[in-house]
Amino acid sequence: MLSRRAILAGLAAAPLMGTRALASAPLSVVATTGMVADAARAIGGDLVEVQALMGPGVDPHGYRQTRSDIVAMTRADLVLWNGLYLEAQLEDFMHSLTKRVPITAVAEAVPADQLLHHEDYENRSDPHIWMVPELWTHAVTATRDAMIAQRPEAADAFTANTEAYLAEIAKVGSYARDVLAQVPEQSRVLISAHDAFGYFGAAYGFEVKGIQGISTESEAGLERIRTLVDDIVTRKIGAVFVESSVSDRNIRALIEGAAAQGHEVKIGGELFSDAMGEPGTYEGTYIGMIDHNATMIAGALGVDVPLQGLNGKLGGKV
Ligand SMILES: [Zn+2]
Repeated sequence: MLSRRAILAGLAAAPLMGTRALASAPLSVVATTGMVADAARAIGGDLVEVQALMGPGVDPHGYRQTRSDIVAMTRADLVLWNGLYLEAQLEDFMHSLTKRVPITAVAEAVPADQLLHHEDYENRSDPHIWMVPELWTHAVTATRDAMIAQRPEAADAFTANTEAYLAEIAKVGSYARDVLAQVPEQSRVLISAHDAFGYFGAAYGFEVKGIQGISTESEAGLERIRTLVDDIVTRKIGAVFVESSVSDRNIRALIEGAAAQGHEVKIGGELFSDAMGEPGTYEGTYIGMIDHNATMIAGALGVDVPLQGLNGKLGGKV
């Protein structure tokens, strides 16, 4: 963990705002999660250079800034993060950064009445808003606005690119709604490693149960695992899901617990909860991530889905 002194030293070593690149150079954007970076890339096209701090499999709840992250952020023209306390370990640093670099918490653009709250996350909102494309559009337009504020002369291009991106998001949003609505009502239970699917559950009529709470920082108790095993056995739940950014240890404990009671529950697949897939793959894009999750969940719970998803690209290269 970086000490406060190391953080301040990193800030002091960075160039001053006045020495930033000329306006004709690409806008340099640093984004925390892959989802936020994807929006910035789609909106900016050739006019931006985007660096994502968190790659595939990286858990944003526990992520701490490295020295090179600090340098990248202090040199950026714009820093974008999710906010809503997703990047809990970056909070202090991000707040210290606001005095030096333009910075926007894009998920905080979601209207307050659409935010969900959770018992173990007192006085805070559930940060996992990207799980529902319609909600994520608020973060996308906030990203566009933040980019236009830094590069007003590119406003027309950013706006046109945003329109195209939002159209893709609307398409994958209605696909998700369509395939998930075909899951038989009694099977609409989503059990996964942590509570990343609250918005998903609310939007698609699923009961969602995470072994850990909203943040992966909380430990799963034996009692929680026991309760979930009982649930799986009594309700004859057929599939549980692992997440790419969280260890599968607890999910395996569920499967073993159910087996000990004579009920076989399988792993429905690996979902992209808080991180996207590998760069250069379809699943490494926001659209691909949502397509993957919707297709995998619906398929594992009994729907006859197109195996390669909405765009015929799942499991292949972009
Ligand atoms: Zn999470």
